[in-house]
Amino acid sequence: MSSELHIYNSHARAKEKFVPITKDHVGLYVCGPTVYSEPHIGNVRTFSSFDMIYRYLKFLGYKVRYVRNITDAGHLTNERGEGVNRMESQAKLESLEPMEIVQKYTVNFHTVMNLFNALPPTIEPTATGHIVEQIEMVEKLIENNFAYEVDGSVYFDVTAYNEKHPYGELSGRKIEDLVAGYRDLDGQDEKRNSIDFALWKKASPEHIMQWRSPWGMGFPGWHLECSVMSTKYLGQAFDIHGGGMDLKFPHHECEIAQNKGCYDKGGARYWMHTNMLNFNGQKMSKSFGNSILPMEFITGSHDLLDKAYAPSVIKLLFLQTHYSSELDINIKGLQDAEKAWKRLFEAKQIVETLAGTAKQKTATSDKISELATACSDSMNDDFNTAKVMANLFELSSIVNSMKGGQIALNDVQEQDIALLKKTFTDYLIDIFGLTEPKQAQNDKLDEVMDVVISLRKQARENKDWATSDKIRDELAEAGIQIKDGKDGDVSYSLN
Ligand code: AMP
Ligand code: ZN
Repeated sequence: MSSELHIYNSHARAKEKFVPITKDHVGLYVCGPTVYSEPHIGNVRTFSSFDMIYRYLKFLGYKVRYVRNITDAGHLTNERGEGVNRMESQAKLESLEPMEIVQKYTVNFHTVMNLFNALPPTIEPTATGHIVEQIEMVEKLIENNFAYEVDGSVYFDVTAYNEKHPYGELSGRKIEDLVAGYRDLDGQDEKRNSIDFALWKKASPEHIMQWRSPWGMGFPGWHLECSVMSTKYLGQAFDIHGGGMDLKFPHHECEIAQNKGCYDKGGARYWMHTNMLNFNGQKMSKSFGNSILPMEFITGSHDLLDKAYAPSVIKLLFLQTHYSSELDINIKGLQDAEKAWKRLFEAKQIVETLAGTAKQKTATSDKISELATACSDSMNDDFNTAKVMANLFELSSIVNSMKGGQIALNDVQEQDIALLKKTFTDYLIDIFGLTEPKQAQNDKLDEVMDVVISLRKQARENKDWATSDKIRDELAEAGIQIKDGKDGDVSYSLN
C-alpha cells in the first residue's frame, strides 16, 4: 500500500513510483480509434480505463495534457497482417467517400464516449492532418540510416536499428526469433528483411487516400502517426503512453524504434496496457464477429442480452476488475453490477440526509477513515479500482447500518458524515465518472410493468393469445419491448 501514485510500467515490467518529467504536469498519449466502423464494447473498456486514469491524475492535481489520436488515414494491414485499407474497403461497402466514413465513425465514436461519460482528450489529432510531419520523420530516419526506399515505398530497417538499440525492448521479443517466426506479409517481395515494417507505402492509382511525398504518391505506415503526434504535442520524452494490450507488439514496439531511430529517445517513460474484454472466453473483435455494440447494451437489442443496461452499469462492471486483467462479460455480471450501482448511489443519497452528533472520535469514525484511506491507497496502487469498489461497498454497509439504527448517530461525528459524502462523490462522480440511476422513475415503471407482465402471463395461461399479443404489440408501439426468457422469466426494455 502506498500514499504515492505507483504505475505498472509495461516497459520496465514492474510497478514504479510515478514521477512526472515536469513537476505538476503530465503528458498522456493514448492510441485512439480507427474510424472505419462503430467501436465495440471492448474498445469502450479500453477508452474508459484511460478516462478513469486521466480523471484520477486530474483529481490528484496534475495539469494533464491528454492526447488521443484519430486513425483516419487507413493503414495497410488488418489483424491478420493482410494488405487491406480498412477505410477504403468500408467506403466501398457503404458507397461513401473514405472521408465520409471517417466523419461518420468519428462522430459515432464521440457520441458513444459521451454516453459513457468519458471526458474528451485535450488534443485529438488526426493522422491525415499530420502527413507533412510524418514525411519529415521518414526523411530523418532515412538520413540516420534506419530506413530505406524501394520503388516508392520506405521501410524501417530493423536489423540496422538493432545494431544500435535493442529491438524488442517493450515486448521482450528477440530479433532472432522474430526473423524466424514473424511474417509481416506487407511488402514481402521488396523488403530487406521480413520483420522490416512500412513507414511509407507507394499508392496504386485506384487507391483514394494518397499524398505527395519525396518518394512519389503514397500514404503513411500504421505506426508512424503515433510517433509523430505524441512527440509533436508532448515532446520527445513524455510521461505516459497507453493503449490496449494487443497494441504492444508490433505497434508500440515500432513506435519506440521510430522514436529512438529519430531522436535517440523512446518517447514515453511509462507504458500502460489495458487488458482485453472477452465475450464467451474469446477476445471481442470486429474480425472475430463476436462484437457487441454499445448501443445494443443500452437498448438491450442484442440477442445475447436479457435486457437493456445503462452505460454506468457497464462502466461499473469494468471497474470491478483491474484494468490490466482480462474481463469476461456475462449476464450475471451485468445484473450484479446493476444492483451494485443502485446500492452505491442509494448510500450516497442516504448520507446526504444523515447528521452525526458524537463529540469525540468513535470506533465508527476510525472504520470510516480507514476505508477512505484504503480507497486512495488502492487508487495509488496502479489504479486498483476493483479494491476501491470493495471499500466503497463496506462504506455503503456502514451507511445502511446508520440508517437502520444498528449504528447510532450519536456514535458518529459530523466529520465522519462529511468524509463519507466526500468519498462517495470523489470516487463515484469525479474519478469513475458514473451517473446516478434514474431511481424513482425506474422503480415506478418497474411496478407498472410488473402488473402488465402478470396480466399478460394470466392471459397466456388462459390461452387467450389475442390479449397476450395485444399487450406485447401495443407496448412495442410505445417503445417497450417484452422479452420472454428461456426459464419463463419475462423482462422488458425500452427502445
Ligand atoms: P482500434 O479501433 O481497433 O484501433 O482499437 C481501439 C482500442 O481498443 C485499442 O487500444 C485496442 O487495443 C483496444 N481494443 C481492441 N479490442 C479490444 C477488446 N476486445 N477489449 C479491450 N480493448 C480492445
Ligand atoms: Zn498508436
